[in-house]
Amino acid sequence: MNDDLEELRGPVPGPRTAELLPVLRERESRNVTFLSDTFPIFWESGSGATITDVDGNRYIDLTAAFGVANVGHANPHVASAISDQASRMLHAMGDVHPTEVKVKLLERLPQVLPPGLDKTFLATTGSEAVEAALKTAMLATGKHAFAAYRNAYHGLSLGALSVTGIEKFRAPFAGAVADTTLWLDYPRAGSDAKNSAGVALATAREELIKRKDLAALIIEPMQGRAGIIVPPLNYLSGLRRLCDELGILLIFDEIFTGFGRTGFWFSAIHDNVTPDIICIGKAMGSGFPISAAVARADIMDAWPQTTGEALHTSTYLGNPMGCAAALATINELTRVKLPARARQVGLGLGSRLAAMRKHESVRDVRGRGLMWGIELTDGATAQRVVTQSLARGVILLQAGAEGNVLSITPPLTIGERQLYRAMDILEGLL
Ligand code: PMP
Repeated sequence: MNDDLEELRGPVPGPRTAELLPVLRERESRNVTFLSDTFPIFWESGSGATITDVDGNRYIDLTAAFGVANVGHANPHVASAISDQASRMLHAMGDVHPTEVKVKLLERLPQVLPPGLDKTFLATTGSEAVEAALKTAMLATGKHAFAAYRNAYHGLSLGALSVTGIEKFRAPFAGAVADTTLWLDYPRAGSDAKNSAGVALATAREELIKRKDLAALIIEPMQGRAGIIVPPLNYLSGLRRLCDELGILLIFDEIFTGFGRTGFWFSAIHDNVTPDIICIGKAMGSGFPISAAVARADIMDAWPQTTGEALHTSTYLGNPMGCAAALATINELTRVKLPARARQVGLGLGSRLAAMRKHESVRDVRGRGLMWGIELTDGATAQRVVTQSLARGVILLQAGAEGNVLSITPPLTIGERQLYRAMDILEGLL
């Protein structure tokens, strides 16, 4: 396991970055990459939790690149599976002529998912997995509306936006986004009485019971983009009972929390809850885009048997490269026992972070496994810490509705020396 510390060869950002930046500014749609004199850097290569930029500076990565590199950047086993597959077959025909590697993946997935989730709809991005889940729920129930959470992030394509509870993403496109969603508040563990599992469930019940058009309720078992928010104990199991009582399907979006991130293969396993449909993506292919909605067979079988033309598919569905990457990722997570490692390293990290509560700028710390948030007083402070930690060799992301949360989601392979070095640098900035 790579346990390298950061090593800066020169200023951050360096001269090569300064050359590339204006070209990007000129040629890329201007809403995509935030550019300034101090941010970003251009990534050149990665290994484990280490990123090297185009100027030869080495950083400790606390993001796993949006929670994708769970098995470490450029994991050699995954890279060689991708390269073997690439030399044989880069692409087959998703819904026409499949490959054997797709069958292998479809057989392997249920072995690591919560019990009973064994029929899969493959896709490419997280948003697409969410849309496949929403369509599945619509067919299975004959209903068309959804319940979702304020500040939830389920993706930005038009269908996924209908359940993404962040107004700034929805507003410019409101006319084309379904406005039938019922919005619930996501309760936070350990805050006030309103946020206890019992009260939050009673409030959700009052809202849900008024609606007869709900196909499903979709929830992140820990909210990611909203600022790493952990629901109170027993909330998710209560939600399972509530959905059963009201005849609403329960969809877990584990695109961020899945594949070991929270210390279990999936967060649902920690909570001992089996959703009707689970959405997975991000770390599934370790960087090769692949995602899926996986359901109980009786629910997935709401889709009619195809007679030649699928009602929902895409060019890259079940792409063999993605399937090979996903199989290799699952094998790596199993071989190195990374979910358990995330759990164990996360316990130490949690204590280290708890000690940061003493700083005036820190409002809260919370998380599980290797998914943690440090809530600061305001977004400007968080932005300052992100920029300054980059200049000191640590890569971090902001999260939270107000951008005031530092999210810590490193590769699950991160060395403890690296992790605690990054924490020292971070604490120095708080
Ligand atoms: N759901 C969750 C919980 C996510 O964190 C994300 C991505 N951050 C998505 C869905 C959307 O995935 P994608 O960006 O691959 O469409």
